Amino acid sequence: MAEVLVYVDHVDGAVRKPTLELLTLARRVGEPVAVALGAGAEATAAVLAEHGAVKVLTADAPEFADYLVVPKVDALQAAHEQVSPAAVLVPSSAEGKEIAARLALRLGSGLITDATDLEPGDDGPVATQSVFAAAYTTKSRISRGTPVITVKPNSAAVEPAPAAGATESLSVTFGEKSTGTKVTARTPRESTGRPELTEAAIVVSGGRGVNGAENFSVIEALADSLGAAVGASRAAVDAGWYPHANQVGQTGKSVSPQLYIASGISGAIQHRAGMQTSKTIVAVNKDAEAPIFELVDYGVVGDLFDVVPQLTEEVNTRKG
Ligand SMILES: Cc1cc2nc3c(=O)[nH]c(=O)nc-3n(C[C@H](O)[C@H](O)[C@H](O)COP(=O)(O)OP(=O)(O)OC[C@H]3O[C@@H](n4cnc5c(N)ncnc54)[C@H](O)[C@@H]3O)c2cc1C
Repeated sequence: MAEVLVYVDHVDGAVRKPTLELLTLARRVGEPVAVALGAGAEATAAVLAEHGAVKVLTADAPEFADYLVVPKVDALQAAHEQVSPAAVLVPSSAEGKEIAARLALRLGSGLITDATDLEPGDDGPVATQSVFAAAYTTKSRISRGTPVITVKPNSAAVEPAPAAGATESLSVTFGEKSTGTKVTARTPRESTGRPELTEAAIVVSGGRGVNGAENFSVIEALADSLGAAVGASRAAVDAGWYPHANQVGQTGKSVSPQLYIASGISGAIQHRAGMQTSKTIVAVNKDAEAPIFELVDYGVVGDLFDVVPQLTEEVNTRKG
């Protein structure tokens, strides 16, 4: 069976969930060979093996932390030369998409971004994408070269599948361009204790209907009862009620959780573009004609300040 390269997103050896999801998808189209780079790369091997990696290629060098994406592209290109894979899979983060695009260009092959599913095909892996603000679902494949595909978080369930996971060190020669953009400082983001927005299984979002920064506590309380991340519409972010990092939509983050709860959000196309692939969508809006109700699985017509606290209380009661 052909090998498939899986780029590992990890922090000091702690593998992030989207990579484990990628391993599930990779197993459908070949034998996963994971590529882990930077500090803690070798420590990723055990968990990658538990999730189906037949091999883990590791490389550590200061370049991975000190410079932006190019050293990682150099490493993936080296892995590509070593393995000749049937596909390269990368998580769909902002960094992941840049790495994937640069790699595809170097390989002279094609790129598919933000895939939501992957299946084997006669002529290589076939990726599902949700396009034009999720108005269409497309299936496509790369017709030339090694397919490079980025996959959205939450597109597949994490399935344990023990494999050898033998660690091999990857030899990387960094190109001239790899040291072009230096990282000069790092500021750790203050922890909210909530999951990362793009990876969360549940997202609770608020919009202009929340009517003020101080009222976002209503949204946060529901999120915390569900162990969810908090999202916001651009109107709420532009008003300064919530940080830009939490904006969901075309010019914000794209999320695809199991459950998306939108409160006081009208459902403008630019917002839908970032959340319409969510598995189950719930909306609370006092306007029964709000466009968000066209795409929901469950809709509540009502004042969010009545509905959301009751929902939070009910969740907390059932948890207790
Ligand atoms: C180029 C471009 C890019 C954009 N990118 C994004 C993006 O990434 N993300 C994004 O979200 N938008 C984006 N927008 C903006 C988008 O067009 C909308 O303006 C925005 O999504 C509206 O936000 P909203 O739904 O919170 O506000 P509104 O459209 O004002 O809707 C507020 C809703 O709250 C309801 N409401 C009010 N009070 C209550 C209450 N007490 N209880 C319940 N419901 C209540 C109202 O009935 C209404 O439906 C973009 C626009 C452009 C032009």
